[in-house]
Amino acid sequence: MNHLNFSGGPGVLPATVLAETQQAIECVPEVGLSILGISHRSDWFAGVVDEAERNIRQLLQLPESHAVLFLQGGATLQFSMIPMLLLRHRRQTADYLRTGYWSAKAIPEARLEGDVRVLWDGEPWGFRRLPRPDELAYSDTAAYLHYVSNETVEGIQFHAIPGLDRVTRVCDMSSDFLSRPFDPERFDLIYAHAQKNIGPAGVTVVILRRDLLHRAPDGLPTLLDYRTHLNAHSIYNTPPVFAIYVVLLVTRWLLNDIGGLDRMDAINRQKAASLYEVIDDSDGFYDGWAAREDRSLMNVVFRLPTADLEAAFLHQATDQGFSGLKGHRSLGGIRASIYNAMTPEAVDSLCRFMWEFADANHS
Ligand code: PMP
Repeated sequence: MNHLNFSGGPGVLPATVLAETQQAIECVPEVGLSILGISHRSDWFAGVVDEAERNIRQLLQLPESHAVLFLQGGATLQFSMIPMLLLRHRRQTADYLRTGYWSAKAIPEARLEGDVRVLWDGEPWGFRRLPRPDELAYSDTAAYLHYVSNETVEGIQFHAIPGLDRVTRVCDMSSDFLSRPFDPERFDLIYAHAQKNIGPAGVTVVILRRDLLHRAPDGLPTLLDYRTHLNAHSIYNTPPVFAIYVVLLVTRWLLNDIGGLDRMDAINRQKAASLYEVIDDSDGFYDGWAAREDRSLMNVVFRLPTADLEAAFLHQATDQGFSGLKGHRSLGGIRASIYNAMTPEAVDSLCRFMWEFADANHS
């Protein structure tokens, strides 16, 4: 049976993209070779990188002030590369919002490079909510502000952009990149690994304001210096050709099949609303993790009354073809990840399953 992939990541990809990928593994028609064996130095692959970049620019209406890079090392390497660029050998402090599992992981890496201030820490609230504007005393002199737009583990998502526009703003968008429109001019550096909304694991998209690179300190390792990748158009050493090709296919799907990010956002809102409605109408049987105003449109996290019921829920869900619903190992519970490629029909069938399970087990 083909399971529906509700995993937190690597996530679901569009069926049409999987079909094209399957064809490309056999043979990319215009090249006559498998995508797994095409030279990264070929003109064809340079064209793939160019078109993927162009599509991302079009989807985001990204100005020329910002560069698009395709890097390796996952989002985790960005936890280090960013402070290497912006904090190393500086007297300034970097401000970090500690709003969940992933933003917390970025902080110790930044501390290796310089001074870090945790501007807000959500741990006392169990990472169930995000800061309100009046809880954030921003510094004008910070080297930068770092935050995670969607905390994948806890299922909490910023619905407004925090920070001061005059302070360098850095955002990990790994789990909501290209799921909704945003104003890219308000960001100085954005990074997102591919394996949620835009492709398979192996490539990380970085969008950065070109003039940030004037701040680069001397002595960075070549591969950890954004300038290396900018100058080489993301083909400095052997890049993940396959992963970048699939990102290209997904950006084509977003542009041509979905019709852009406004449309994608509307679909994603509808999917999330259906699931949260089941939670809210379940008379407390399903207990949503996130504060209502911070609910994620990508990761719907909830608990059942007992661990036994959660185990039974996961077991029956798997039997019925719903995969990947087990919550993150750090949090437990249930997490339904409904990235771009998860269809509204699949979400509706999960909602039906949740109702049936609640009816059978709610005392
Ligand atoms: N940031 C966020 C928001 C994530 O969800 C994840 C992984 N799920 C990471 C960073 C780490 O990504 P990677 O495994 O690509 O290093």
